[in-house]
Parts: sequence; structure tokens; C-alpha cells
Amino acid sequence: GITIDNVTKRFGAEDNAVVAVDDVSLDIDDGEFVVFVGPSGSGKSTLLRMVAGLEQQSEGDVVIGDTVVNELGPRARDIAMVFQNYALYPNMTVEENMSFGLKMSTDMDDDEIARTVTDTAEMMGIGNLLDDTPGELSGGQQQRVALGRSIVRDPNVFLMDEPLSNLDAKLRTEMRTEINRLQQDLGVTTLYVTHDQTEAMTMGDRLVVLNYGELQQVGTPLECFYRPANRFVAGFLGSPS
Ligand code: ATP
Ligand code: MG
Repeated sequence: GITIDNVTKRFGAEDNAVVAVDDVSLDIDDGEFVVFVGPSGSGKSTLLRMVAGLEQQSEGDVVIGDTVVNELGPRARDIAMVFQNYALYPNMTVEENMSFGLKMSTDMDDDEIARTVTDTAEMMGIGNLLDDTPGELSGGQQQRVALGRSIVRDPNVFLMDEPLSNLDAKLRTEMRTEINRLQQDLGVTTLYVTHDQTEAMTMGDRLVVLNYGELQQVGTPLECFYRPANRFVAGFLGSPS
């Protein structure tokens, strides 16, 4: 699993620092799907970026499996990350986009890489797009490629920061189901940030509610909704009063 242990992140100079994440502690089980919600600026992305190793915490520890990963860079953490702007390489084909990370990070030979990429692409329903470039694809297809590219390396941890927010409503619904299916098939521990109420209430095993960098509540979506820990959570989730 993952342990976030008394993690704080301050940005800026000591005397007028912004506390983006304020002493957050959280244990996440292997294979669990945890959804992070909170207003804009509540520290969701910063928290994920610290788990990813893209940001160094000011205080506290991040533990993945049995390893304190504080000093490890993103590549050493065995995580995959998907953002809302998929950041595909525009001049590479889908196949090249999906192979790139594998070539950098494994000792698979070219044949194995090609096979792994083809299998993953088939599983994602993009097997017919391998020779296309991202510019030729729809938003939903690009999102699939971004997901495919990140899971092809078979990471232990999946970090997603509003991965569906650029998609239209219909595609979003479709991709929600797909991400849940994929996550269960792979059994990969997943941290998922969203602004979307439906995603918050339906996708995860547990919901984490943040405000001003502080943990407000951790629980199943139904617990948080029906038994909000405080007024903020009730208001934010629209709990019945
Ligand atoms: P949103 O829902 O808008 O994406 P968020 O919950 O992801 O918001 P963060 O991006 O984590 O919020 O930001 C938390 C706080 O930290 C904000 O006050 C933000 O301005 C500040 N912050 C984030 N990154 C930096 C940075 N690199 N330098 C300075 N301040 C930052
Ligand atoms: Mg964010």
C-alpha cells in the first residue's frame, strides 16, 4: 500500500509561505481506488505530485510498499500518472507513444515491447490506431492512448489528476466505467483527483475530502455523503440536512 505520513508542503519563503498540504496522513491499501476531492487550491494536485515524486514535501514521509520514497525521483517509484492534458508526443505514432516509456524503463527487447504494446492497445480498444498520430485522434481516443501508455509499464501505483475533465459528458461516462474496469483487472492501487460529483460518489472505494490543504474526511463515498464529518464536507458534497 501507500502511506502518507504527516505530510506538509509549503511553497514560497518561510515568512509568507502558502501551506498547500497541511499535515496530511493517510493509509491506502494495495489495490484500493481512492478519490480526492476539494475546492480549487485545496492541495489535491500537490498531494498527488508528492506521491509521484514530482514535488518534494516540506515535512513528513511518503511510503510506497515497504520503501520510504522521500529521496526517490519519479522514475524510481514505479508509478504511472495521467493528467487532464494527456501530454502525448504529437510527432510520434500511438505505438511510439506507448513504447517510449517501456524502452526507457525496461530491459525488454524490441519484440517483447511491440507485443506488450499491441496487447495493451487491444485491451484499451485502440489496437487499430497504433499507426496514427495523436492529432488524428478524437479526445476520447487520445485519452485512451494516454491511459494505455501509462499502464503498459504495469505500474504498482496509478495517479490520475482530473483525467476526464477535457471530455464531453458521454465520453466521460464511458471512460469512468473503463477506468474502473481497468483498475480492477490490473488490481493497481489508484489515487484519483476529480472535480466531478458523479466520479467522486461512484468511482472509488474511499473518498478523501480536502480543504485548504487539510484533510476533512476519509471514508466511503456513502459515509462521507450521509455522515459528513463537518459542515464543510456536508456543503461540499451536498449532503441532505
Ligand atoms: P485545482 O482543483 O484548481 O486543480 P488543487 O486542489 O489541485 O486545485 P493545488 O494545485 O495542489 O490545488 O494547489 C494548492 C495550493 O498550492 C494553492 O494555493 C496553489 O496556489 C499553491 N501552489 C501549487 N503549486 C504551487 C507552486 N508550484 N508554487 C507556489 N504555489 C503553488
Ligand atoms: Mg489540481
